[in-house]
Amino acid sequence: MSRRTSRPRRPSAASARTTSAAEITAASPCPCGMPAEYGACCGRLHAGAAAPTCEALMRSRYSAFVVHDAAYLLRTWHPDSRPEVLDLDDPGMRWERLEILGATEGSAFHTTGTVTFRAHFTHNGRAGSLHEKSRFVRYEGAWVYESALFTD
Ligand SMILES: [Zn+2]
Repeated sequence: MSRRTSRPRRPSAASARTTSAAEITAASPCPCGMPAEYGACCGRLHAGAAAPTCEALMRSRYSAFVVHDAAYLLRTWHPDSRPEVLDLDDPGMRWERLEILGATEGSAFHTTGTVTFRAHFTHNGRAGSLHEKSRFVRYEGAWVYESALFTD
């Protein structure tokens, strides 16, 4: 998922951090929706474990938005399409839930894959969702996010 904030910076934004990142601990239910604790699910990937499938990478990238791990998002982004910086510090943004709608290829036997998902969020109290089909490729052996094939 490639959503990033593009609104003008307000001087107060830096001090008005959201608390959502701090609410997640290793024992929390994983934000990605798998029936597992964060530390045993996406937290492992954030700590350096390789994603076995595109879907696992997609889930871990969604969770990285939730826990504000911009460094993980950048290092799992193909260098050709990766933004230089990623600002996740939008106090009004709260990622609520990830729905995986479909996936093609993307296993240990593939070099490309796609994942279609809907990510539900609340922004300044208003519910919304991001619907996207993401394309993933292997880069130096590891799955990385390449681009959105469609997004709405
Ligand atoms: Zn997870």
